[in-house]
Amino acid sequence: MNPGKTRVVIAGGGTAGWLTAFSLAKRLGTQLDITLVESDLIGTVGVGEATIPTMKSFHSLMEIDEREFMVATQATFKLGIWFDDWGGIGDKYIHSFGVIGQGSWMAEFHEYWLELQAQGLGGNLEDYCLEWKAAQQGKFATQVGKMNLNYAYHLNATAYAQFLRGKSEALGARRVEGKIAKVNLSAQGGNAGNIESLDLESGVNVPGEVFIDCTGFRALLIGEVLGVGYEDWGHWLAADSAWAVQTESTQAPPPFTRAMAQPIGWQWRIPLQHRTGNGIVYSSRFCSDDEARAQLLGNLAGPTITEPRQLKFRTGRRQQPWHRNCIALGLAAGFLEPLESTSIHLITTALVRLMRLFPFGGECEQQAERFNTESRFEWEEARDFIILHYKLTRRDDTAFWNFYREMEVPRNVTHRIEIFRKNGYVWPDKVNLFRVDSWLQVLMGQGVFPERHHRATRIPGTAGLEETLGQMRAKVAANLAQLPDHQAFIDRYCPIPRTPVPVAIAAHGSSR
Ligand code: FAD
Repeated sequence: MNPGKTRVVIAGGGTAGWLTAFSLAKRLGTQLDITLVESDLIGTVGVGEATIPTMKSFHSLMEIDEREFMVATQATFKLGIWFDDWGGIGDKYIHSFGVIGQGSWMAEFHEYWLELQAQGLGGNLEDYCLEWKAAQQGKFATQVGKMNLNYAYHLNATAYAQFLRGKSEALGARRVEGKIAKVNLSAQGGNAGNIESLDLESGVNVPGEVFIDCTGFRALLIGEVLGVGYEDWGHWLAADSAWAVQTESTQAPPPFTRAMAQPIGWQWRIPLQHRTGNGIVYSSRFCSDDEARAQLLGNLAGPTITEPRQLKFRTGRRQQPWHRNCIALGLAAGFLEPLESTSIHLITTALVRLMRLFPFGGECEQQAERFNTESRFEWEEARDFIILHYKLTRRDDTAFWNFYREMEVPRNVTHRIEIFRKNGYVWPDKVNLFRVDSWLQVLMGQGVFPERHHRATRIPGTAGLEETLGQMRAKVAANLAQLPDHQAFIDRYCPIPRTPVPVAIAAHGSSR
């Protein structure tokens, strides 16, 4: 124990636990004494492999070198998500991370484009977005000319936790191996009811002032011991199960995640440099585990290299992720299915919030209230964005899709659909995670086309508008022409070491 430092105990060493240890050690390490407890016997979920662009910003806050991270986690780049068969069977669209065109303060860009569309002009919406076009064509670079692309990563989740562990330990965070057997609460004074230490099965006692619950779905501290409830969103997001399996890569990795709707759920395909991650998300209400497993195995692009692994979950969020001196992060704080790859993002934004509100003074009621309010906004808006994908389906081929098409959804979602359908109006969410272009791409990608758009778009006149938009299209096309293939960029920028040639073969080859 270092005198004067606040003792932080992190329970759990999955992605959430090691991200927490690393961030706190990196940014507040001189003020904190950090211990992480994890049990090799319990293991981690280890399937969080697709991310969104905020991860890049978080890494830059934490001074993580991009190439080092990419090599360590066999990562590839991600420009968006390619959706198959969501609106209807045969439909395809991309939710790209790029900015589409440039609007004005009165009307968004897509409304100007709609004005030209009405006259048979203006090309396709994707002609105004470099990331969208690059994803379609399998191209990538981190920047072109002075323009930085908006991108995220596909990564090996187990390797990412190990990478963060190495960095955390180098910064002084301590790891204690062992299973937590008991959580001790203080019985005295103003701290009565706060957590004061963890007893491990080995007999070791780990005391602290601040406890971070990263024990995954079990939520050992915040749920089991402190009794903080869980808000269940299963009536909107019915999926409660997944199978995951890894396969050999059979082609160069595309710079996007695939989210393929299936009769009983949806399937992800996430390309890494050395293999592909696959999984199917489904609801036990509508199909059996065996049926889902068979569906996944029947729709793989390459031979499997692992046994299929089943995961069970409950969609929703912890009612107060910060309660007393305990803060829940990661799966202990809640779960949203990985359709828009939001879980790791929600860990990193919670970490930034925690660092800004950190309870150095012991008292933490006020900080907890603020933390919980901000968390609620963020989780509800991410939830609504995911609900939108399901609600907009026109599929009627199975009970699964009928459920979603017909379900009642939160007012925020119906309002967004109705106002867009009638007026073409879209707004970003409160926390600015899913911006106008994200909502727009899903709405239009799933077949909602506005009846009207803002008349301010008529003011420049057709010729003026066509000229301005033509320049935007030309700029995207010129930038696109400069981008290399995704694989070629990886080969140059962050290739993983090649598998060494076995000695016997090398000796044979050199004896000619
Ligand atoms: P876990 O990985 O479960 O770690 C829990 C830790 O707690 C382990 O170290 C364990 O040993 C420890 N522990 C538990 N109990 C005890 C005990 N009694 N004593 C000691 N230690 C204990 N996220 C994304 O961002 N993108 C994705 O594409 C994505 N895909 C997903 C797909 C599925 C099907 C699922 C289920 C999740 C997905 N996620 C994704 C979420 C992502 O996997 C998690 O957010 C992330 O792994 C964080 O998990 P965690 O660290 O909270 O929990």
